[in-house]
Amino acid sequence: MTGGAAGTVLCLVELDAGAPADASLRALTFARRLAAAAGPSGPAPSADGTGALGAPGPSGPAPGAAASDPAAPSAQPGTGAAVGGALAALVFASAGEVPGNTLAGYGVTGAYAVEPGAVPGYAPLAWARSLAGLATEVGADAVVAAGTERGTEVLAHLGALTGVPMAANCVSAERTEPGKYRIVRHRWAGLLLEDAELAASPALMTVATDAVPAEPLTGPVGLPVRAFEPELASADLRVCAAESAEHAAGVSLATARVVIGGGRGVGGAEGFAPLEELAGLLGGVVGVSRVVTSEGWRPHKQQVGQTGTRITPELYLACGISGAIQHMAGCAGAKHIVAINTDPGAPMLSHAEYAVIGDLKEVIPALVAAIRARTASPELFP
Ligand SMILES: Cc1cc2nc3c(=O)[nH]c(=O)nc-3n(C[C@H](O)[C@H](O)[C@H](O)COP(=O)(O)OP(=O)(O)OC[C@H]3O[C@@H](n4cnc5c(N)ncnc54)[C@H](O)[C@@H]3O)c2cc1C
Repeated sequence: MTGGAAGTVLCLVELDAGAPADASLRALTFARRLAAAAGPSGPAPSADGTGALGAPGPSGPAPGAAASDPAAPSAQPGTGAAVGGALAALVFASAGEVPGNTLAGYGVTGAYAVEPGAVPGYAPLAWARSLAGLATEVGADAVVAAGTERGTEVLAHLGALTGVPMAANCVSAERTEPGKYRIVRHRWAGLLLEDAELAASPALMTVATDAVPAEPLTGPVGLPVRAFEPELASADLRVCAAESAEHAAGVSLATARVVIGGGRGVGGAEGFAPLEELAGLLGGVVGVSRVVTSEGWRPHKQQVGQTGTRITPELYLACGISGAIQHMAGCAGAKHIVAINTDPGAPMLSHAEYAVIGDLKEVIPALVAAIRARTASPELFP
């Protein structure tokens, strides 16, 4: 795999309930700005004049793009208006299921699908091999993925396969010259920001899940999706998760819009039923502290924090969680934090916009009852 010089950025897009996962939409926004700043006309100034990601890029299709290249900047109105270089997206799903129009709304100019017939589920090595093949085909000089468990694992495999360094959890990147990027990324679970230079072609980056908001350019617009047939060895499919209860249920902890967090204050495994009920009513999922997983009350895949999942929901309702620094490392990206805690001095309260000082065993059933009443009689709650 060798990087192209034309500013093409390839982004891995994960699906959640058939739609691009929020974390992938953020990664796409990051990738689009990288493509804009690294387009064929060279690094372009961003709105703040730095050219760094995190600010919108220039508009207009790239000059000199090959018309036959499906990943070339689109001349279609609305499809890639802010893309200077090309932005390609790879999705592991049948072409008919890939939401090409949504991707185009985020500036994608070439959408590709690896069909389940070729890769029948989540196979990290096969996903990485596919990305490597497509990166070569479209001449990508950067490959980007969300900093989710999958995105991180796949890009790490891609780095190992190709011998190219991979920078994890980037919050910004600026292309200073071909093959060189100035990046800022999270270290120590987000406790510090590192300035670094990444010299690699292509550059492999995962995007910290709370680094960039997802910003579409337009509403969905038409974009054909092409099947991409990767060249795989049977060993690439040795590890393949064909089914995931979490993904089948449609909402994953890393991408959920609402997370109901439970800590030691929940009191035991049986205490989580009301939290599950509340999460179900709000279309969210349950996340937990490490005490909860250490006690065996809930599985580790639900742990939020430095040694768990980093979450970026609209709402994090932290119930019976003290707010230890290692827990906050995983939930600081939540847009709104609301705490329920018996202790008015709990550190979590200093991070929360609102807090209910009280026993969660009383507060959560009351919340559930209020939401059910509202759903049953909407006319009483205009
Ligand atoms: C290397 C390392 C990595 C770690 N990684 C993680 C990580 O990824 N994630 C993580 O969470 N932790 C992690 N930890 C552990 C972390 O330091 C804390 O010990 C842990 O987060 C505390 O969990 P907790 O808030 O549930 O429990 P506690 O700190 O015991 O807090 C319980 C809270 O519940 C409240 N409470 C009690 N009863 C009720 C009730 N009935 N109603 C309402 N509130 C009530 C209490 O007032 C208290 O604030 C890590 C630690 C280390 C050393």
